[in-house]
Amino acid sequence: MSGKSFAVHKFGGTSVGTADSIRKCIEIVKTLVPNNRIAMVVSAMGGQPKVTDMLLDSVHASASVNEEKRDNLLVAILDKHSVAIKDLLPDHPIEVERLIRIVQKDLEDIHVILKAVQLLQNAGELILELISGYGELWSAQVLASVMQSMGMPFEFLNARDVIRIRTEGGTGQMVDWEMSQHYIDEVLAAREKELGYKTHFVITGFIATTTDGVATTLKRDGSDYSASIFGYLLKADAITIWTDVSGVYSADPRRVRGAQVITQVSYNEAIELSYFGAKVIHPKTVTPAIMANIPIYIKNTFEPSAAGTRIYQPPSQGEAVREKTVCGFSTVDNVALLNIDGNGMVGVSGIALRLFSALEDVSVPVLFIAQASSEHSICFATRESHALAAKEAIEAKFYWELSK
Ligand code: ADP
Ligand code: ASP
Ligand code: MG
Repeated sequence: MSGKSFAVHKFGGTSVGTADSIRKCIEIVKTLVPNNRIAMVVSAMGGQPKVTDMLLDSVHASASVNEEKRDNLLVAILDKHSVAIKDLLPDHPIEVERLIRIVQKDLEDIHVILKAVQLLQNAGELILELISGYGELWSAQVLASVMQSMGMPFEFLNARDVIRIRTEGGTGQMVDWEMSQHYIDEVLAAREKELGYKTHFVITGFIATTTDGVATTLKRDGSDYSASIFGYLLKADAITIWTDVSGVYSADPRRVRGAQVITQVSYNEAIELSYFGAKVIHPKTVTPAIMANIPIYIKNTFEPSAAGTRIYQPPSQGEAVREKTVCGFSTVDNVALLNIDGNGMVGVSGIALRLFSALEDVSVPVLFIAQASSEHSICFATRESHALAAKEAIEAKFYWELSK
Protein backbone atom coordinates (compact mmCIF):
# COMPACT_ATOMS: atom_id res chain seq x y z
CA MET A 1 0.00 0.00 0.00
CA SER A 2 3.02 2.28 0.30
CA GLY A 3 2.75 5.32 -1.92
CA LYS A 4 -1.01 5.05 -2.37
CA SER A 5 -2.97 8.22 -1.69
CA PHE A 6 -5.95 8.33 0.66
CA ALA A 7 -9.60 8.24 -0.40
CA VAL A 8 -12.21 9.14 2.22
CA HIS A 9 -15.46 7.14 2.28
CA LYS A 10 -18.12 8.31 4.72
CA PHE A 11 -21.00 6.02 5.64
CA GLY A 12 -24.00 7.73 7.24
CA GLY A 13 -26.27 6.44 9.98
CA THR A 14 -28.63 4.89 7.44
CA SER A 15 -25.72 2.93 5.96
CA VAL A 16 -24.57 1.52 9.32
CA GLY A 17 -28.01 1.09 10.94
CA THR A 18 -28.12 -2.72 10.95
CA ALA A 19 -25.79 -5.70 10.51
CA ASP A 20 -27.13 -6.18 6.96
CA SER A 21 -26.40 -2.63 5.91
CA ILE A 22 -22.96 -2.72 7.58
CA ARG A 23 -22.20 -5.79 5.43
CA LYS A 24 -23.14 -3.72 2.35
CA CYS A 25 -20.69 -0.98 3.40
CA ILE A 26 -17.94 -3.56 3.83
CA GLU A 27 -18.66 -5.09 0.39
CA ILE A 28 -18.24 -1.62 -1.12
CA VAL A 29 -15.01 -0.90 0.75
CA LYS A 30 -13.56 -4.29 -0.28
CA THR A 31 -13.77 -3.23 -3.93
CA LEU A 32 -11.99 0.07 -3.16
CA VAL A 33 -9.06 -1.24 -1.17
CA PRO A 34 -6.88 -2.14 -4.20
CA ASN A 35 -7.02 1.45 -5.51
CA ASN A 36 -6.39 3.64 -2.49
CA ARG A 37 -5.51 3.82 1.13
CA ILE A 38 -9.01 4.06 2.68
CA ALA A 39 -10.21 6.33 5.45
CA MET A 40 -13.73 5.20 6.32
CA VAL A 41 -15.59 7.83 8.34
CA VAL A 42 -18.68 6.45 10.04
CA SER A 43 -21.75 7.81 11.77
CA ALA A 44 -23.46 6.27 14.77
CA MET A 45 -25.90 3.45 13.98
CA GLY A 46 -29.04 4.97 12.46
CA GLY A 47 -32.51 3.52 12.08
CA GLN A 48 -35.61 4.13 14.17
CA PRO A 49 -34.53 5.54 16.54
CA LYS A 50 -30.99 6.70 15.77
CA VAL A 51 -28.39 5.95 18.46
CA THR A 52 -27.46 9.66 18.65
CA ASP A 53 -31.12 10.52 19.36
CA MET A 54 -31.32 7.81 22.04
CA LEU A 55 -28.18 9.15 23.74
CA LEU A 56 -29.48 12.72 23.71
CA ASP A 57 -32.90 11.57 24.92
CA SER A 58 -31.25 9.75 27.82
CA VAL A 59 -29.68 13.03 28.96
CA HIS A 60 -32.99 14.91 28.67
CA ALA A 61 -34.84 12.09 30.47
CA SER A 62 -32.33 12.34 33.34
CA ALA A 63 -32.69 16.12 33.54
CA SER A 64 -36.44 15.65 33.92
CA VAL A 65 -35.89 12.88 36.52
CA ASN A 66 -37.46 10.20 34.34
CA GLU A 67 -35.36 7.24 35.51
CA GLU A 68 -37.49 4.62 33.77
CA LYS A 69 -37.12 6.29 30.38
CA ARG A 70 -33.37 6.79 30.92
CA ASP A 71 -32.85 3.12 31.84
CA ASN A 72 -34.99 1.86 28.94
CA LEU A 73 -32.94 3.95 26.53
CA LEU A 74 -29.63 2.64 27.87
CA VAL A 75 -30.89 -0.95 27.62
CA ALA A 76 -32.12 -0.35 24.05
CA ILE A 77 -28.73 1.08 23.06
CA LEU A 78 -26.93 -1.97 24.44
CA ASP A 79 -29.40 -4.32 22.71
CA LYS A 80 -29.08 -2.61 19.33
CA HIS A 81 -25.28 -2.90 19.39
CA SER A 82 -25.21 -6.43 20.85
CA VAL A 83 -27.59 -7.74 18.18
CA ALA A 84 -25.51 -6.21 15.37
CA ILE A 85 -22.16 -7.34 16.85
CA LYS A 86 -23.33 -10.97 17.27
CA ASP A 87 -24.77 -10.99 13.74
CA LEU A 88 -21.58 -9.55 12.20
CA LEU A 89 -19.09 -11.79 14.01
CA PRO A 90 -20.77 -15.23 14.32
CA ASP A 91 -17.44 -17.08 14.34
CA HIS A 92 -15.57 -14.78 16.71
CA PRO A 93 -17.11 -15.21 20.19
CA ILE A 94 -14.16 -13.66 22.05
CA GLU A 95 -14.25 -10.57 19.85
CA VAL A 96 -18.05 -10.39 20.28
CA GLU A 97 -17.58 -10.42 24.04
CA ARG A 98 -14.82 -7.78 23.89
CA LEU A 99 -16.93 -5.38 21.78
CA ILE A 100 -20.09 -5.81 23.87
CA ARG A 101 -18.01 -5.22 26.99
CA ILE A 102 -16.74 -1.91 25.51
CA VAL A 103 -20.33 -0.72 24.94
CA GLN A 104 -21.38 -1.94 28.42
CA LYS A 105 -18.45 -0.20 30.12
CA ASP A 106 -19.17 3.08 28.29
CA LEU A 107 -22.85 2.83 29.23
CA GLU A 108 -21.82 2.37 32.88
CA ASP A 109 -19.82 5.62 32.63
CA ILE A 110 -22.77 7.33 30.94
CA HIS A 111 -25.04 6.10 33.73
CA VAL A 112 -22.80 7.74 36.34
CA ILE A 113 -22.88 11.05 34.44
CA LEU A 114 -26.66 10.81 34.04
CA LYS A 115 -27.08 10.40 37.78
CA ALA A 116 -25.34 13.76 38.20
CA VAL A 117 -27.60 15.24 35.49
CA GLN A 118 -30.61 13.97 37.44
CA LEU A 119 -29.36 15.60 40.67
CA LEU A 120 -28.74 18.86 38.84
CA GLN A 121 -32.01 18.52 36.89
CA ASN A 122 -30.14 20.21 34.07
CA ALA A 123 -28.73 18.89 30.78
CA GLY A 124 -25.55 20.95 30.41
CA GLU A 125 -23.96 21.58 27.03
CA LEU A 126 -20.66 19.84 27.88
CA ILE A 127 -22.50 16.69 28.97
CA LEU A 128 -24.66 16.65 25.84
CA GLU A 129 -21.55 16.99 23.67
CA LEU A 130 -19.71 14.21 25.47
CA ILE A 131 -22.58 11.72 25.61
CA SER A 132 -23.97 12.28 22.11
CA GLY A 133 -20.61 11.26 20.64
CA TYR A 134 -20.53 7.68 22.00
CA GLY A 135 -22.51 6.28 19.06
CA GLU A 136 -19.69 7.01 16.62
CA LEU A 137 -17.10 5.52 19.01
CA TRP A 138 -19.05 2.25 19.05
CA SER A 139 -19.87 2.00 15.34
CA ALA A 140 -16.28 2.75 14.30
CA GLN A 141 -14.83 0.15 16.71
CA VAL A 142 -17.33 -2.46 15.52
CA LEU A 143 -16.57 -1.80 11.85
CA ALA A 144 -12.80 -1.87 12.38
CA SER A 145 -13.13 -5.18 14.21
CA VAL A 146 -15.33 -6.75 11.52
CA MET A 147 -12.92 -5.65 8.76
CA GLN A 148 -10.01 -7.12 10.72
CA SER A 149 -11.88 -10.39 11.21
CA MET A 150 -12.15 -10.56 7.41
CA GLY A 151 -8.38 -10.13 7.10
CA MET A 152 -8.49 -6.47 6.03
CA PRO A 153 -5.92 -4.17 7.66
CA PHE A 154 -8.22 -1.50 9.12
CA GLU A 155 -7.53 0.31 12.40
CA PHE A 156 -9.94 2.28 14.60
CA LEU A 157 -9.17 5.99 14.83
CA ASN A 158 -10.87 8.30 17.34
CA ALA A 159 -11.37 11.71 15.68
CA ARG A 160 -11.18 13.30 19.15
CA ASP A 161 -7.43 12.53 18.96
CA VAL A 162 -7.13 14.60 15.78
CA ILE A 163 -9.74 17.30 15.08
CA ARG A 164 -9.28 20.43 17.19
CA ILE A 165 -12.07 23.03 17.26
CA ARG A 166 -11.82 26.67 18.30
CA THR A 167 -14.96 28.04 19.87
CA GLU A 168 -13.76 31.30 21.35
CA GLY A 169 -14.45 34.74 19.91
CA GLY A 170 -18.15 34.23 19.25
CA THR A 171 -17.45 33.10 15.68
CA GLY A 172 -19.03 29.67 16.13
CA GLN A 173 -16.96 26.57 15.56
CA MET A 174 -13.72 26.81 13.58
CA VAL A 175 -11.36 23.95 12.84
CA ASP A 176 -7.83 24.70 14.01
CA TRP A 177 -6.19 23.35 10.87
CA GLU A 178 -2.63 23.67 12.10
CA MET A 179 -3.23 21.73 15.32
CA SER A 180 -5.40 19.12 13.58
CA GLN A 181 -2.73 18.61 10.89
CA HIS A 182 -0.12 18.19 13.60
CA TYR A 183 -2.19 15.49 15.36
CA ILE A 184 -3.08 13.53 12.21
CA ASP A 185 0.57 13.50 11.10
CA GLU A 186 1.54 12.28 14.57
CA VAL A 187 -1.14 9.55 14.55
CA LEU A 188 -0.17 8.34 11.04
CA ALA A 189 3.52 8.16 11.96
CA ALA A 190 2.84 6.40 15.29
CA ARG A 191 0.55 3.76 13.75
CA GLU A 192 3.02 3.04 10.96
CA LYS A 193 5.84 2.62 13.47
CA GLU A 194 3.74 0.39 15.72
CA LEU A 195 2.33 -1.83 12.93
CA GLY A 196 5.27 -1.73 10.51
CA TYR A 197 2.97 -0.95 7.55
CA LYS A 198 0.56 1.74 6.35
CA THR A 199 -2.90 0.74 7.49
CA HIS A 200 -6.42 1.74 6.41
CA PHE A 201 -8.59 3.49 9.00
CA VAL A 202 -12.14 3.44 10.35
CA ILE A 203 -12.65 6.90 11.82
CA THR A 204 -15.43 8.25 14.05
CA GLY A 205 -17.53 10.91 12.33
CA PHE A 206 -19.21 13.74 14.24
CA ILE A 207 -16.84 14.03 17.21
CA ALA A 208 -13.93 16.34 17.92
CA THR A 209 -12.08 18.07 20.77
CA THR A 210 -11.89 21.77 21.55
CA THR A 211 -8.49 23.45 21.59
CA ASP A 212 -8.86 23.42 25.39
CA GLY A 213 -9.05 19.62 25.32
CA VAL A 214 -12.80 19.26 25.98
CA ALA A 215 -14.92 16.66 24.16
CA THR A 216 -17.18 18.27 21.56
CA THR A 217 -19.09 17.43 18.37
CA LEU A 218 -19.51 19.00 14.93
CA LYS A 219 -23.27 19.26 15.69
CA ARG A 220 -26.14 17.22 14.24
CA ASP A 221 -25.47 15.54 10.89
CA GLY A 222 -21.82 16.61 11.28
CA SER A 223 -20.22 13.36 10.06
CA ASP A 224 -20.25 14.67 6.47
CA TYR A 225 -18.16 17.57 7.72
CA SER A 226 -15.81 15.13 9.53
CA ALA A 227 -15.31 13.36 6.19
CA SER A 228 -14.24 16.52 4.40
CA ILE A 229 -12.02 17.62 7.31
CA PHE A 230 -10.21 14.26 7.08
CA GLY A 231 -10.20 14.57 3.27
CA TYR A 232 -8.26 17.82 3.66
CA LEU A 233 -5.93 16.57 6.42
CA LEU A 234 -5.13 13.33 4.60
CA LYS A 235 -4.71 15.10 1.22
CA ALA A 236 -7.25 12.66 -0.20
CA ASP A 237 -7.96 12.22 -3.93
CA ALA A 238 -11.70 12.22 -3.32
CA ILE A 239 -14.36 12.26 -0.60
CA THR A 240 -17.33 9.95 -1.11
CA ILE A 241 -20.47 10.32 1.00
CA TRP A 242 -22.36 7.01 1.01
CA THR A 243 -26.00 7.45 1.99
CA ASP A 244 -29.48 6.06 1.30
CA VAL A 245 -30.20 7.98 -1.93
CA SER A 246 -28.38 7.93 -5.27
CA GLY A 247 -26.96 11.46 -5.16
CA VAL A 248 -28.11 15.05 -4.85
CA TYR A 249 -31.64 15.24 -6.24
CA SER A 250 -33.41 18.22 -7.77
CA ALA A 251 -35.58 18.18 -4.59
CA ASP A 252 -35.84 15.99 -1.49
CA PRO A 253 -36.79 12.59 -3.00
CA ARG A 254 -38.70 11.69 0.19
CA ARG A 255 -41.03 14.61 -0.44
CA VAL A 256 -41.11 15.18 -4.18
CA ARG A 257 -42.04 12.29 -6.42
CA GLY A 258 -40.24 12.63 -9.75
CA ALA A 259 -37.21 14.42 -8.29
CA GLN A 260 -34.15 13.60 -10.39
CA VAL A 261 -30.49 13.02 -9.58
CA ILE A 262 -28.26 15.92 -10.58
CA THR A 263 -25.06 14.29 -11.76
CA GLN A 264 -22.82 17.37 -11.64
CA VAL A 265 -23.07 20.11 -9.03
CA SER A 266 -20.58 22.93 -8.47
CA TYR A 267 -19.19 23.59 -4.99
CA ASN A 268 -21.15 26.86 -4.85
CA GLU A 269 -24.42 25.20 -5.83
CA ALA A 270 -23.90 22.46 -3.24
CA ILE A 271 -23.34 25.07 -0.51
CA GLU A 272 -26.57 26.86 -1.47
CA LEU A 273 -28.62 23.64 -1.68
CA SER A 274 -27.34 22.23 1.61
CA TYR A 275 -27.55 25.51 3.50
CA PHE A 276 -31.18 25.80 2.45
CA GLY A 277 -32.21 22.34 3.53
CA ALA A 278 -30.88 19.60 1.22
CA LYS A 279 -30.03 17.29 4.13
CA VAL A 280 -28.09 14.89 1.93
CA ILE A 281 -24.94 16.88 2.70
CA HIS A 282 -24.10 19.01 5.75
CA PRO A 283 -23.59 22.66 4.70
CA LYS A 284 -20.06 22.88 6.13
CA THR A 285 -18.85 19.84 4.17
CA VAL A 286 -17.92 21.70 1.02
CA THR A 287 -15.49 24.24 2.51
CA PRO A 288 -12.52 21.92 3.31
CA ALA A 289 -13.00 20.26 -0.08
CA ILE A 290 -12.76 23.65 -1.82
CA MET A 291 -9.60 24.50 0.14
CA ALA A 292 -7.81 21.51 -1.42
CA ASN A 293 -9.93 21.19 -4.59
CA ILE A 294 -11.06 17.67 -3.68
CA PRO A 295 -14.15 16.38 -5.52
CA ILE A 296 -17.02 15.08 -3.38
CA TYR A 297 -19.14 12.19 -4.65
CA ILE A 298 -22.57 11.34 -3.24
CA LYS A 299 -23.37 7.64 -3.71
CA ASN A 300 -26.00 5.15 -2.60
CA THR A 301 -24.84 2.33 -0.28
CA PHE A 302 -27.87 0.28 -1.35
CA GLU A 303 -27.33 0.87 -5.08
CA PRO A 304 -23.56 1.31 -5.46
CA SER A 305 -23.61 0.96 -9.24
CA ALA A 306 -25.74 4.11 -9.63
CA ALA A 307 -23.60 7.01 -10.89
CA GLY A 308 -24.43 9.42 -8.05
CA THR A 309 -23.43 13.07 -7.98
CA ARG A 310 -20.07 14.75 -8.39
CA ILE A 311 -19.58 18.02 -6.50
CA TYR A 312 -16.59 19.90 -7.88
CA GLN A 313 -15.14 23.15 -9.12
CA PRO A 314 -16.18 23.64 -12.75
CA PRO A 315 -13.43 25.19 -14.89
CA SER A 316 -15.34 28.43 -15.45
CA GLN A 317 -15.95 29.33 -11.80
CA GLY A 318 -19.76 29.37 -12.20
CA GLU A 319 -22.23 26.51 -12.39
CA ALA A 320 -21.58 22.92 -13.24
CA VAL A 321 -22.06 21.88 -16.84
CA ARG A 322 -25.51 20.36 -17.33
CA GLU A 323 -28.44 20.47 -19.72
CA LYS A 324 -30.96 22.03 -17.33
CA THR A 325 -30.43 25.55 -16.05
CA VAL A 326 -32.01 25.09 -12.61
CA CYS A 327 -29.86 22.97 -10.31
CA GLY A 328 -32.47 22.04 -7.73
CA PHE A 329 -34.94 23.12 -5.05
CA SER A 330 -34.60 22.75 -1.33
CA THR A 331 -36.81 23.64 1.60
CA VAL A 332 -36.15 24.63 5.19
CA ASP A 333 -38.70 23.72 7.85
CA ASN A 334 -39.56 25.65 11.02
CA VAL A 335 -38.48 29.07 9.84
CA ALA A 336 -39.88 32.37 11.17
CA LEU A 337 -40.04 35.54 9.06
CA LEU A 338 -39.81 38.79 11.01
CA ASN A 339 -40.71 42.08 9.36
CA ILE A 340 -39.76 45.42 10.86
CA ASP A 341 -41.41 48.40 9.21
CA GLY A 342 -42.49 51.94 9.87
CA ASN A 343 -42.27 55.44 8.46
CA GLY A 344 -39.64 56.27 11.08
CA MET A 345 -37.18 54.01 9.21
CA VAL A 346 -37.19 55.93 5.94
CA GLY A 347 -33.95 57.80 5.42
CA VAL A 348 -32.75 57.15 9.00
CA SER A 349 -29.21 55.83 9.07
CA GLY A 350 -28.05 53.05 11.36
CA ILE A 351 -31.36 51.13 11.61
CA ALA A 352 -29.96 47.96 10.07
CA LEU A 353 -26.86 48.16 12.24
CA ARG A 354 -28.95 48.47 15.42
CA LEU A 355 -31.33 45.73 14.31
CA PHE A 356 -28.63 43.16 13.59
CA SER A 357 -26.55 44.07 16.62
CA ALA A 358 -29.66 43.41 18.76
CA LEU A 359 -29.86 39.94 17.19
CA GLU A 360 -26.14 39.37 17.63
CA ASP A 361 -26.44 40.24 21.34
CA VAL A 362 -28.83 37.32 21.86
CA SER A 363 -27.10 34.97 19.36
CA VAL A 364 -30.02 34.77 16.95
CA PRO A 365 -28.90 33.32 13.59
CA VAL A 366 -30.13 35.13 10.46
CA LEU A 367 -30.90 32.92 7.46
CA PHE A 368 -31.55 35.70 4.96
CA ILE A 369 -32.29 39.42 4.79
CA ALA A 370 -34.45 41.52 2.44
CA GLN A 371 -34.70 45.27 2.60
CA ALA A 372 -37.28 47.31 0.69
CA SER A 373 -35.56 49.83 -1.58
CA SER A 374 -37.71 52.55 0.04
CA GLU A 375 -35.98 51.59 3.36
CA HIS A 376 -39.51 51.36 4.78
CA SER A 377 -39.03 47.77 5.97
CA ILE A 378 -36.47 45.11 6.67
CA CYS A 379 -37.48 41.48 6.62
CA PHE A 380 -35.32 38.60 7.83
CA ALA A 381 -35.68 34.90 8.51
CA THR A 382 -34.50 32.97 11.54
CA ARG A 383 -35.26 29.59 13.07
CA GLU A 384 -38.71 29.36 14.64
CA SER A 385 -37.08 28.49 17.97
CA HIS A 386 -35.26 31.87 17.95
CA ALA A 387 -38.29 33.99 16.93
CA LEU A 388 -39.36 35.05 20.41
CA ALA A 389 -35.83 35.96 21.51
CA ALA A 390 -35.45 37.99 18.30
CA LYS A 391 -38.75 39.83 18.85
CA GLU A 392 -37.88 40.69 22.44
CA ALA A 393 -34.37 41.86 21.58
CA ILE A 394 -35.69 44.10 18.79
CA GLU A 395 -38.42 45.52 21.00
CA ALA A 396 -35.83 46.36 23.66
CA LYS A 397 -33.45 47.96 21.15
CA PHE A 398 -36.17 50.07 19.49
CA TYR A 399 -38.06 50.78 22.73
CA TRP A 400 -37.92 54.53 22.21
CA GLU A 401 -39.16 54.42 18.57
CA LEU A 402 -41.93 51.93 19.43
CA SER A 403 -43.22 53.93 22.37
CA LYS A 404 -43.67 57.10 20.32
P1 ADP B 1 -27.09 9.81 6.28
O1 ADP B 1 -27.62 9.00 7.42
O2 ADP B 1 -26.46 8.97 5.22
O3 ADP B 1 -26.20 10.95 6.71
P2 ADP B 1 -29.24 11.72 5.82
O4 ADP B 1 -30.59 11.28 6.26
O5 ADP B 1 -28.50 12.69 6.68
O6 ADP B 1 -28.36 10.42 5.56
O7 ADP B 1 -29.32 12.36 4.36
C1 ADP B 1 -29.92 11.65 3.31
C2 ADP B 1 -31.35 12.15 3.11
O8 ADP B 1 -31.32 13.51 2.65
C3 ADP B 1 -32.11 11.42 2.03
O9 ADP B 1 -32.71 10.25 2.51
C4 ADP B 1 -33.12 12.47 1.56
O10 ADP B 1 -34.41 12.24 2.08
C5 ADP B 1 -32.60 13.78 2.15
N1 ADP B 1 -32.54 14.85 1.15
C6 ADP B 1 -33.03 16.12 1.33
N2 ADP B 1 -32.85 16.86 0.23
C7 ADP B 1 -32.22 16.08 -0.68
C8 ADP B 1 -31.76 16.28 -2.01
N3 ADP B 1 -31.89 17.44 -2.64
N4 ADP B 1 -31.17 15.24 -2.63
C9 ADP B 1 -31.00 14.04 -2.00
N5 ADP B 1 -31.42 13.79 -0.75
C10 ADP B 1 -32.03 14.79 -0.08
N1 ASP C 1 -24.69 10.79 14.47
C1 ASP C 1 -24.75 12.22 14.30
C2 ASP C 1 -26.20 12.66 14.15
O1 ASP C 1 -27.09 11.82 14.16
C3 ASP C 1 -23.89 12.71 13.18
C4 ASP C 1 -24.23 12.21 11.80
O2 ASP C 1 -24.85 11.15 11.67
O3 ASP C 1 -23.82 12.84 10.82
O4 ASP C 1 -26.44 13.84 14.05
MG1 MG D 1 -26.45 12.99 7.13
